[in-house]
Amino acid sequence: MKITLLGTGAAEGWPGLFCDCSVCQYARATGGKNIRSRASAIIDGVLKVDLPPDLHMQAVQNSLNLRELRYLLVTHSHDDHLCPTELQYMGQWFTTEALPETLRIVGPSPALNRIRREVDISRLPVCLTTALPDHLLSFEDYRITAIEAVHDPSQLCLNYIIKAQDGTQILYASDTGWYTETTWQFLERQEFDAVIAECTKGPIPTEYTGHLDMYQVIEMKSRLQRAGSINENTPFVATHFSHMGGANHEQLEAVLGQHGIITAFDGYSLTVSHSLPLVPAR
Ligand SMILES: [Zn+2]
Ligand SMILES: [Zn+2]
Ligand SMILES: [Zn+2]
Repeated sequence: MKITLLGTGAAEGWPGLFCDCSVCQYARATGGKNIRSRASAIIDGVLKVDLPPDLHMQAVQNSLNLRELRYLLVTHSHDDHLCPTELQYMGQWFTTEALPETLRIVGPSPALNRIRREVDISRLPVCLTTALPDHLLSFEDYRITAIEAVHDPSQLCLNYIIKAQDGTQILYASDTGWYTETTWQFLERQEFDAVIAECTKGPIPTEYTGHLDMYQVIEMKSRLQRAGSINENTPFVATHFSHMGGANHEQLEAVLGQHGIITAFDGYSLTVSHSLPLVPAR
């Protein structure tokens, strides 16, 4: 399973669209890994996680042909994860040839309802599948289990356990705060070949419970290790960072690296398999 994190920033991007804090100033001056677009991942070139407003440039910069997509997992309806109108470009007037396959879009009902409201899906090669927490969805290439995120009390938000046909299984944990005990017990019965976890707040814990800070991410890794769900060599990758955390990429990397956690950047890619973990690509 090849996982590429196309976007690793929080909602307003990094530098923040309208922010001029020291982290944003440093990002504008330095570029490189200090530029983060909105949350976005692609697996094996066919399974996309979330549909952010930056998808066009992410596809160009990573030489992706999105015509090959077969699955789109949507975590929740927030703008940085779901920009439904991008879907219209699959349709007539925007492509010279119809797409070869139907795109299966999987998500919680509030996100799917937003797509239905904003796009006329009857004219598009898509089908929508509602995901529910703790329910397994079996598709041709992947088995998907949604788990309930702790993110926005006004709507159901999901994270995903994604299992490929060869048994490789990963946890995609964004956006979320600290999971409920019920979710933890479910996760502790699983085995993961990689974990992608959000780290929105970086080194600044706040009272807001809908995102994780780096100390919670470190504890998340320890807890999964204690449960035997991962081992010390399992790639554990932090993503969805906000500049509001006050630390630049190198500072995040210095702390997270001490705990064996990879600080993702836009374009970060890793390949994992059930029998052969830990092959970072770039
Ligand atoms: Zn987000
Ligand atoms: Zn800023
Ligand atoms: Zn969100």
